[in-house]
Amino acid sequence: MRQQIAAANWKMNLTLTQGEQLLDAILKNEYSLNEHRKVVLAIPFPYLLPAVNKVKNTQGVFVAAQNCYNKKSGAFTGETSVEMLQSIGVEYVVLGHSERREYFNESNSFLAEKVNIVLENNLIPIFCCGESLTIREEGTQNEFVANQLKESLFHLSADQIKKVVIAYEPIWAIGTGKTASSQQAQDIHLHIRNTFAAAYGNEVAQDITILYGGSVKGNNAAEIFAMPDVDGGLVGGASLNADEFAIIINALK
Ligand code: PEP
Repeated sequence: MRQQIAAANWKMNLTLTQGEQLLDAILKNEYSLNEHRKVVLAIPFPYLLPAVNKVKNTQGVFVAAQNCYNKKSGAFTGETSVEMLQSIGVEYVVLGHSERREYFNESNSFLAEKVNIVLENNLIPIFCCGESLTIREEGTQNEFVANQLKESLFHLSADQIKKVVIAYEPIWAIGTGKTASSQQAQDIHLHIRNTFAAAYGNEVAQDITILYGGSVKGNNAAEIFAMPDVDGGLVGGASLNADEFAIIINALK
């Protein structure tokens, strides 16, 4: 089901106390959240359980893990299974963030396995895609992103694909302060939706939630989120400030 989502990616930041203070500050603000307008907080593994407990009585706020492993369980020291995440009440998992693709060599086929296991456990993948600056300068971003989607997602059924949240994040805009213009975001979001339409039909494509990520801030969120094929954002740096993240949440359509 297509939704409007403000997703926070805390990455590898904050101590427990700092995380609790940030979460309390985010939760004390008023937002009009509902079934179609949500906040998802992707926070570090050690704080997932306390965060789930804190948000459980707040309508429209959910907790995400920033990663998971592609195997059910077993001798994989240091990894975290989806079953573990599900058992503590986590509902979303961010997959394929460009930092994981780059620093941990996560490939499209490996991510396809992670998508499968997340869906099998009834959690929702937030699947990240997006091109580097070199690809953008070559002008082949549409083909590059379509290929990421095809290799990791197109084996899914129509019912499954509608559950996946897509986060388009141009790598050149992540953490750089350099945002895609609202028109650049709209153009590629429309391309992503058309890519899904070609594979699954227009009705399914219209149901898919596509977030924009890359230096979304309080002062640009409303313009980007207003674009017809942008359904909210995945926010890194600006999500570490409760007041700024509140502005971003309130910028959702
Ligand atoms: C991100 O971490 O996914 C991200 C988009 O970061 P930032 O908002 O800091 O660019």
